[in-house]
Amino acid sequence: MSFLVTARKWRPKIFDEVVGQSHITQTLKNAIVNNRIAHSYIFAGPRGVGKTTTARILAKSLNCMNSINGEPCGECEMCKLFNNQQSLDVIEIDGASNRRIEEIRTLRESVKYAPTKGEYKVYIIDEVHMLTTESFNALLKTLEEPPEHTIFIFATTDIHKVPLTIISRCQRFDFRRIELGEIKSLLHKIAEAENIKIDDKSLTLIAKKADGALRDAQSLFDQVISFCGNNVESDVITKMLNLIDEEVYFIISDAVINKKYEDAFIVSKRIYENGWNFIDFVDGLIEHFRNIMTVIVSSNLKLIETAEVYKEKYNNYKNEFSEGDILRILSFLNKLQYEIKNTRNQRLTIEISLTHLIGLEKTSTISEILSKLNSGNVQLTDDQEKKKPILKPDISDSPKSENNSVKSSINSDPIIVVDKKNLNTGKEFKRLWEILIDKIIEEKFSLGLMAHTKLIEVIENKIMLELEHPEDEAIIKNHLQYINQAIIEILKNKYELVFTNSVKNGGKQIHNSNSESSIPKQTIYDDAGKKPFEEEHPLIKSIITELGGKEV
Ligand SMILES: [Zn+2]
Repeated sequence: MSFLVTARKWRPKIFDEVVGQSHITQTLKNAIVNNRIAHSYIFAGPRGVGKTTTARILAKSLNCMNSINGEPCGECEMCKLFNNQQSLDVIEIDGASNRRIEEIRTLRESVKYAPTKGEYKVYIIDEVHMLTTESFNALLKTLEEPPEHTIFIFATTDIHKVPLTIISRCQRFDFRRIELGEIKSLLHKIAEAENIKIDDKSLTLIAKKADGALRDAQSLFDQVISFCGNNVESDVITKMLNLIDEEVYFIISDAVINKKYEDAFIVSKRIYENGWNFIDFVDGLIEHFRNIMTVIVSSNLKLIETAEVYKEKYNNYKNEFSEGDILRILSFLNKLQYEIKNTRNQRLTIEISLTHLIGLEKTSTISEILSKLNSGNVQLTDDQEKKKPILKPDISDSPKSENNSVKSSINSDPIIVVDKKNLNTGKEFKRLWEILIDKIIEEKFSLGLMAHTKLIEVIENKIMLELEHPEDEAIIKNHLQYINQAIIEILKNKYELVFTNSVKNGGKQIHNSNSESSIPKQTIYDDAGKKPFEEEHPLIKSIITELGGKEV
């Protein structure tokens, strides 16, 4: 196999081939098409994300004789000269090694001369932040009165070190870190073209290690290929780069759920024996719990940068932790992150900390107390039916609820009691409800007011809504047929909308306008203005005893 470094072989030749920076390349193309060329540009952003590459394409396109839609043609005389690095009109300067005033003076001299063949003389100064103050001052004079046909493109990884006087005279473009998915898909494309077998997990490992820098990803890719040949397996990459196996993070989060203390020692032993870095491990563990947090709060797996196989695992954690639990874990790990850097015995610190982590008691949130209360302790008043549960998340259908004492206290959501097989958690119902409201608002202009309704409770097949303006009820009722259909479509079941502050009741909040009400009035959602909670109310008692609340 003739070997040409991937980064060079796959270096973009036109703007459209630049990965992950379309917000910049599109603007530059438009500028060329409309002939609105600035005299100086500054490209800022992390290393290896395409700044120099974009600068070169811009330089080439500016001098191209048949530029098409702002892209260089690649075939005219100017493009060919450029491709063979023979163009005298594009001058590349490395700011790091030409930082002194003498060199900038030479540059200023050369700027005076017109381009030899092309329309523009383009100076690309890489790592411009490395210039000395004197050099910047000398450069500034040129920028203040730039010779016509001269264009400067500065690139920097450290925009804060570039004087504002320079920046303010340039058109600034901020290059972004390239997303994991974008890096993966480019590597995948390259692998296919080169007939290399590589799986998703391996691509993820390489892309992750590159941390947003495409160039780094490509050189890692080369390294891996020269080590593994044309058949790449993730285990080999893990060993070769001595990466921490992500499985260990899952072992820890599982241990937290199942209170398996010995796993703290098993994991610590594995880190030690593999020669992994304990500091990296803590960083990785923080990212891991951050991923779990992402799943809990957004259910959007796309926000997690990990291999496909792990995404499913993360999804399974959705009902195992509450936001409060994860926040406490993250704050604990943040402290550990500091501690591990300053300790003499990292292994011991990790073992102690992981044991603590696994033993962390769950936070009691108000919603959890409510769910505890209502799972049997709440005494309803005599005139209320006691048949139906209230404020109790239905977890009976969940297979995970067996043998898992943690579960009941963390999977609580006080608002929703739905007894439908596929909507067995309050969170899932709320998620679907939000989708439903979005759909309604998008499809029916006149129902925009639905955005201002508040979901109060769901009991059996009744959805209690509070209206911002009780008069809105009439408008909603006009579209009831449409709404009911949307409900069936999204929630997969029939539900009746009940307005807690219906005009029929003078706009007052009640929990059910239906006479055969089965809903006890005593919930925290009761209209506080009507009747304040009494001291002996079980909720108040719990807030005082379990959360240390005080009567004010
Ligand atoms: Zn051309």
